[in-house]
Amino acid sequence: MKRLTAATLLTLTLGCYDSTPSPAFAGESGHADHAVILLYHHVADDTPVSTSISEEDFKTQLNHLEKKGFRVLPLSRIVNALQNDEWLPDKTIAITFDDAYTSVFTNAWPELQRRKLPFTVFVNTASISSQPTTYMSWSQLERLKNAGVSIGNHSHSHQHMLNHRDTPNWAENIKQDIQQAAEHLQQQLGVTTQLFAYPYGEFDPALQEIVAEAGLIGFGQHSGAISAEVDFTALPRFPIGGAYASVSRLDTAINSRPLPVKAEPANGRVLSPDKTAFELNITVGQAVADGPDSLSALACYPSAGTDLKLQPRGNRHFQIKLTDITSAGRHKINCTLPDPKHQGAYFWWSYLLMKPQDAGEWYQQ
Ligand SMILES: [Zn+2]
Repeated sequence: MKRLTAATLLTLTLGCYDSTPSPAFAGESGHADHAVILLYHHVADDTPVSTSISEEDFKTQLNHLEKKGFRVLPLSRIVNALQNDEWLPDKTIAITFDDAYTSVFTNAWPELQRRKLPFTVFVNTASISSQPTTYMSWSQLERLKNAGVSIGNHSHSHQHMLNHRDTPNWAENIKQDIQQAAEHLQQQLGVTTQLFAYPYGEFDPALQEIVAEAGLIGFGQHSGAISAEVDFTALPRFPIGGAYASVSRLDTAINSRPLPVKAEPANGRVLSPDKTAFELNITVGQAVADGPDSLSALACYPSAGTDLKLQPRGNRHFQIKLTDITSAGRHKINCTLPDPKHQGAYFWWSYLLMKPQDAGEWYQQ
């Protein structure tokens, strides 16, 4: 892995914050091969709880990031560094918002701007200006863009993209939906972007292929840190909001490191509606930098309402059996391994599984 030179790091700093390099950029502390992306939706007290963080709690989180010495860098800078096998500063994070909600403009932006923190807004273009109290207008987005905020593609329609994926026109419709969003961003804001966030964080290998063919970087809503080893068509982000809006949850997220895992079948799977069990084989890579030699503390947790058994199969292989998958919706398997060098920190990997309703109809949330 190449190291960013001190000059490059300084330029990076100057480009995103202010003229004072932080201690890490001055070479006093380390560099990292990973970063963490945070995902927010609403920053408000009167929006749906599960996807919201209050203004007060948001400020508390930003204070916490500063106090703990985390560096917020632009998402594309982080992705570029990892793709080019370059070091990142230690404690690097990105801040992202999905859906371009009005509260990001009114409540989050002033706080972020005051602190000179970069962030990305993923825009589902059909919603813009459709409900002015809920979504930003194009002129508000233009103000963000002109202030240096990065704009990403979140599809035009914000549909559940895997719905009807067995029909002949599925791939074409999905390509058009993504392309339409790209055209709106270009026409309205003059923005061309490689950054694409899957609506609802739902993806499967066929959709990942479409994203890869379009030259896009895909972002999900499954938890985990990112590194050069992680699939760039399904980069994890830690959702922050609702029950996951506390500082302790934030701490867990920002201190996490990527657990390199190869899964069979590959991540992002749609389960048949009649199936209530799922089997997964995983291999944990050797590339856990200065990580533990032993995987004995590896633990995997299912989503609520399902049961999970983890069986060691030798030579870093494990079998995961998930049963009692009765409810339709998104299910996640989270696997963690304590980081022996950092108290309370975990290597983290998660797997997305989706189950349509009994009649094969896609669930609504
Ligand atoms: Zn969304």
